[in-house]
Amino acid sequence: MLLGLDAAELADLLGPEHPRFRAQQVYEALYRHRVADLAAVTTLPTALRRRLAADHRVGLPEVERRYDSADGTRRYLLRLEDGRTVETVFMPEPSRATFCISTQVGCPVGCRFCMTAALGLERNLSAGEIVGQVLLLLREHGLEPGRDRINVVMMGQGEPLLNLEAVLKATRLLVDPRGVGISPRRLTLSTVGIVPKIHELAQAPVRPKLAVSLHATTDEVRCRLIPIARKYPLADLLAACRAYPLRSWERLTFEYLLIRDVNDTDRDARRLASLLGQLRAKVNLIPLNPGPDIPFEPPDPERVLAFQARVRRVLPCFVRKPRGQDVYAACGQLRRMALDGNRQACGAISTLASRSVKRTMPE
Ligand code: SAH
Ligand code: SF4
Repeated sequence: MLLGLDAAELADLLGPEHPRFRAQQVYEALYRHRVADLAAVTTLPTALRRRLAADHRVGLPEVERRYDSADGTRRYLLRLEDGRTVETVFMPEPSRATFCISTQVGCPVGCRFCMTAALGLERNLSAGEIVGQVLLLLREHGLEPGRDRINVVMMGQGEPLLNLEAVLKATRLLVDPRGVGISPRRLTLSTVGIVPKIHELAQAPVRPKLAVSLHATTDEVRCRLIPIARKYPLADLLAACRAYPLRSWERLTFEYLLIRDVNDTDRDARRLASLLGQLRAKVNLIPLNPGPDIPFEPPDPERVLAFQARVRRVLPCFVRKPRGQDVYAACGQLRRMALDGNRQACGAISTLASRSVKRTMPE
């Protein structure tokens, strides 16, 4: 597939008999104009267009199913070229839209509170498959990065830092103003805290903003929630964050999942503020989204506010609103959960039916 190739790779593919600007035309057709079919690229000479269309596919993912939440959130189950499926979430707001994209099919990490963990890792996504999710949502919703405010967060299925090469290539393609044109200030990667990879990310000249899933203020609680945290103690994780070279406009984000009676006390809040107080950072609190097989409970709403108030004394702290919980689109719920017809918005079904999408239920 062509998605995922940069301008130099497209020039190699076309061969030396074509002038360089032809590759640029193909590049712009793919990433700026978001064509689904190369036959539509009328700026190319007919013979070249035919050859390209015969030999290559663009490689946009296909919408296998779409689940519409009452709050406007849409969870897409997308089919990749090898038939595997992955999820992408579209979250509209009055003045902007947020795309939550996946970086792996499943996830190898095994956090105790996350439904994606149950899938295990099926495979990494390629750069083209990561970019393809953004292109598909732009097409589906008629959005233009130059005109509309669009945030892209790599917070869907998968651990982005365990697929860093593809994530960085996708980042370069996404933020290229001659291509997709997402603002580099509006592209964020969230990691569970793979310390050596944070150091590697820090060296990348073009990189997304960094969000770290902290979720605990002691190694003991963190390891209970995130078993692989044993390899990356809090002291090392925070040292990597302190060493991280922030751009002038950038702040680190720390995500902190609030779980009833596990990490939601005032003592936790005070410890969190003192751990992060010296960093240029903000905290996003995420009240746990419950789900089948998740052995934890969400916190009381008053606890969330009290926790936020304590942290706020020291650094900016926000509470993340759950989006799309009714269609399993919220953080940690991406497990290709199939829903019966009654729980789905009827609009979603009729739109899909008109496109003759495969109707088998995902697992
Ligand atoms: N693997 C990366 C990014 C994907 S998960 C990471 O872990 O950061 C995106 C966010 O959803 C993370 O902050 C994760 O901790 C959070 N999350 C996972 N399960 C959740 C749940 N049940 N409720 C709320 N947030 C959850
Ligand atoms: Fe993977 Fe992130 Fe879920 Fe942990 S929270 S299992 S790292 S997707």
